Amino acid sequence: MMALPFLDLPPLAGASGTVRLPGSKSISNRVLLLAGLAEGTTVVHDLLDSDDTRVMLDALRALGCGLVRDGATLQITGLSGRLPVHEAQLFLGNAGTAMRPLTAALAVLAATQGGRFELSGVARMHERPIGDLVEALRPLGCTIDDLGTPGYPPLRLRGEAGGRLATDRAIHVRGDVSSQFLTALLLALPLVAGEHDVVIAVDGELISKPYIQITLNLLARFGITVQREGWARFTIPAGSRYRTPGHIHVEGDASSASYFIALGAIAAHGGAPLRIEGVGLDSIQGDIRFVEAAQAMGAQVSGGPGWLAVHRGAWPLRAITLDCNHIPDAAMTLAVMALYADGTTRLDNIASWRVKETDRIAAMAAELRAVGATVTEGADFIEVTPPTAWRTAAIHTYDDHRMAMCLSLAACNPARVPVRILDPHCVAKTFPGYFDALFGVAHALPEDVPVITVDGPTASGKGTLAAELAQRLGYELLDSGALYRAAGLAALEDGVSPDDETAVARLAATLDLRFADGRTWLRGHDVTDALRAEQAGMLASRVSALPAVRTALHGLQLAFRRAPGLVADGRDMGTVVFPDAALKVFLTASAAERATRRHKQLISKGISSNIDSLRADLEARDLRDSSRVVAPLKPAEDAMRLDNSALTVEESVERVLAWWAERRPFAAASAAAKG
Ligand code: C5P
Repeated sequence: MMALPFLDLPPLAGASGTVRLPGSKSISNRVLLLAGLAEGTTVVHDLLDSDDTRVMLDALRALGCGLVRDGATLQITGLSGRLPVHEAQLFLGNAGTAMRPLTAALAVLAATQGGRFELSGVARMHERPIGDLVEALRPLGCTIDDLGTPGYPPLRLRGEAGGRLATDRAIHVRGDVSSQFLTALLLALPLVAGEHDVVIAVDGELISKPYIQITLNLLARFGITVQREGWARFTIPAGSRYRTPGHIHVEGDASSASYFIALGAIAAHGGAPLRIEGVGLDSIQGDIRFVEAAQAMGAQVSGGPGWLAVHRGAWPLRAITLDCNHIPDAAMTLAVMALYADGTTRLDNIASWRVKETDRIAAMAAELRAVGATVTEGADFIEVTPPTAWRTAAIHTYDDHRMAMCLSLAACNPARVPVRILDPHCVAKTFPGYFDALFGVAHALPEDVPVITVDGPTASGKGTLAAELAQRLGYELLDSGALYRAAGLAALEDGVSPDDETAVARLAATLDLRFADGRTWLRGHDVTDALRAEQAGMLASRVSALPAVRTALHGLQLAFRRAPGLVADGRDMGTVVFPDAALKVFLTASAAERATRRHKQLISKGISSNIDSLRADLEARDLRDSSRVVAPLKPAEDAMRLDNSALTVEESVERVLAWWAERRPFAAASAAAKG
């Protein structure tokens, strides 16, 4: 699917239901590396499928690991610590969880078994420090060349076969910039813990300790028991070897859970709690302690192994002051919950935010201000006071998945202003289906959900235009003609006359129709092709003239109006079904042009037809549609007319999107975004 340039979120009024989380990024990439280095085959369940895991998988494949996808699982046959490939160029995107451990592992492998490996990433990756890790590896005897700015990727790791490493003395690493340097060493050094114990000494106060806990936990699953003295000294025992656990399950991502815990705390009121599956109170991930912080702000959270349930408690939320060193990623979500608090929230000890996907303190301050909050930022803290007046804003996301997910929660604002998320696709780093998951549990009031209607005569290209608009905007699509076609088909199947108003209306009211993956199912069978056939169109044209049938299908059509928005095409979308639509388009084309298009369409399906009789059929249907008593085909008074006889689909789409841009409240902000 094409990446959306922006996604507009309508104001969200409530949340309920169940959300299933994707696998944890931190666990996924550690498991992949361990399985890739281990002896034997590891079957990985519930692996996260995202940008960051994809670059790790590509790297492992390039290094010679065996990877076999089998349904929902991935089988990895590891290298047993031996390099079959001695030269590779690895592109690691913006995945710190791939760059740091692969640097350490390949540096020691190249130094002992010979090799030449180049590691690079996107521009931002080349601004994320790695010097402390390099400085830890060089005294050990690893040869590491800076290919760009010293202390930052890209790097070249090289060495000759038979090289020896100075593992007989402690390896020093700084712990106060990123805990990923220590993780990288812990994951890699078992490769060279042959005759001696390998000792790692941490200089400075270790930050983000829970992530080290995950590393130790997973090392243990792969047969390596690291001894630690406090958080200052770690010993990998001599003779350590990675052994596959056979099968391993990846927990749901606790950082990703934070958005739904926050959503529950803000918007799950009135009914059942919001249920979150995939991660629970037994999680090994440090970010699960976000639960305590959310509770301190007022959330009501219960849970068990693999699940959580969240309900709004205190409202407004309670402002807090918290040292967030133990939950660096999830703490960003607190900064957004602070928008709904009863005072000023202060998050301390978050200096590591500045060296993440973007400078997250600066980014968070700028975007929270954009929605109206008062924000004070310091080198290692942020203070957020809720807006007195909410502003409509186009939110910059800085190619940072967490900025996009966090700021989506600003859509819960009581002022009921919409929120535009620029470049929403960046969530793919850890949670590709985030917005679908969000709209699966968060609801907007129908009147707050924007609708674009596209009405017009048969074969005017409404369906194509509407589908394209829906895709570009990330909106739902209602092909209302399909409902009338389906009602006609159901009548045919049951031997009911298409003119028997009562009987057809009864069928229409209980129509078992499902739309999934681009297919349409009627009463459990696939009618996608049958619906598009001419016969279904003629039947639809007859049953749709019956007032009781139109009434029967009315509620079903309204139900399509769901967040984030709807594009609806038909004959009476703008006049009858969605009279309050924000933009109404009436699409026409000359009868000759429409007959030609229909003719081409049929030819492409291998059906022969005659243009003149097609044109006669079209005109007969138009006449019936526009002369019927109920909901006749006609432009709404406030419709924008578009004759597309001489326009390409792309030109029509651009025209409508330009009208749409004029009507949305984001114009100024988006222009600034481009400038
Ligand atoms: O748009 P489509 O060709 O699928 O519609 C099939 C028929 O359903 C139309 O000819 C029209 O009679 C009827 N229809 C309608 N109102 C709508 C959509 C379709 O009456 N909103």
